[in-house]
Amino acid sequence: MAADLASMNIDELKSLMAELGEPAFRAKQVLLWLARGVRPEGMSNIPASLREKLSSIPFGGAEIIDQRHSMRDETVKFLYELDDGNIVEGVLMSYSYGNTLCISSQVGCRMGCTFCASTLNGKVRDLTAGEMLSEVTAVERLIPPKGDRKRTVTNIVMMGCGEPLDNYDNTLRFLRRATAEDGLGISPRNISVSTCGLVPNIYRFTEDAPHITLCISLHAPNDELRRRTMPIANAYSLHELIPAAKHYADATGRRVIFEYALIEGVNSSDEDARELSHLLRGINCHVNLIPLNSVKERHLSGVSRKRAQDFAKLLEKLHISATVRRELGTDIDGACGQLRNKHISSRGENDA
Ligand code: SAH
Repeated sequence: MAADLASMNIDELKSLMAELGEPAFRAKQVLLWLARGVRPEGMSNIPASLREKLSSIPFGGAEIIDQRHSMRDETVKFLYELDDGNIVEGVLMSYSYGNTLCISSQVGCRMGCTFCASTLNGKVRDLTAGEMLSEVTAVERLIPPKGDRKRTVTNIVMMGCGEPLDNYDNTLRFLRRATAEDGLGISPRNISVSTCGLVPNIYRFTEDAPHITLCISLHAPNDELRRRTMPIANAYSLHELIPAAKHYADATGRRVIFEYALIEGVNSSDEDARELSHLLRGINCHVNLIPLNSVKERHLSGVSRKRAQDFAKLLEKLHISATVRRELGTDIDGACGQLRNKHISSRGENDA
């Protein structure tokens, strides 16, 4: 049984109703509310006595406590407060096909990538599936869908704070609820999970969630370079990671996406592009390039847009599909962890 209400599926709610001595049909009613992220006190067709019982179970909510709208594009960054006061963040990006919400899977992160703001203070805790669902439903409640769209959030990427495959069970439960008809009802093809490369869990993921898009943060064409910025490369070498990625692509028939942040003077030379093309040869994949978002706390900077485009062109010439990702929300601390860190340090200053 899930620990919080927002994580529960119909079977668990039915067992809960039985435990509470309530009729089974209440389970379906409660589930309908949960799919919209409504807490027990707002469940208007549920008797007060049951609402009270449900309120004594942890909910697994995420309330939006701050939002920043980009002046340059339609990107909105959200700060969420979890029920225990922890803070995570999300970003809503607008595209012609719909809106993609980038959500967090952990409070902080323990992977230690040197360029990433999320991991500066380590991991505080995992998010529950309910909390991840609440990140989505909170946005849905705040921003009504435009035109004849049924929902505001049409796509989800798990690229916010945290490492989803380091929180495997909750992530899988979230994906099941997010794609279920009686959950959020979002197509698995519209959901991407990004990992820094936890190899055993990539194999599990291929089995458990073959319809979800897998993104792998590569950021280097060889182990020596990768180990400089990504500690996970010490645990799993490219000799293990690349076959796992190929296995995902072969087993699912889907392209694996490699993310590659271009860092000035580190991984962005023509030679790096050539080495990368050798590494990825024969894999059904696509490379998403992004100039590194400079993080104040780290002394690494991104390449120019022009350099990123040249790197992409060279990869294409070497028969590796590659594009430069649109940079959105750069004026609102769009990169993962940036806004949360600012919020936490300002809270600290206020407290002091
Ligand atoms: N832990 C997961 C998902 C979270 S980060 C992972 O590592 O994939 C989502 C993506 O943003 C990852 O590719 C991550 O490496 C990248 N990223 C982190 N900090 C960045 C920065 N400052 N600039 C550009 N990309 C960054």
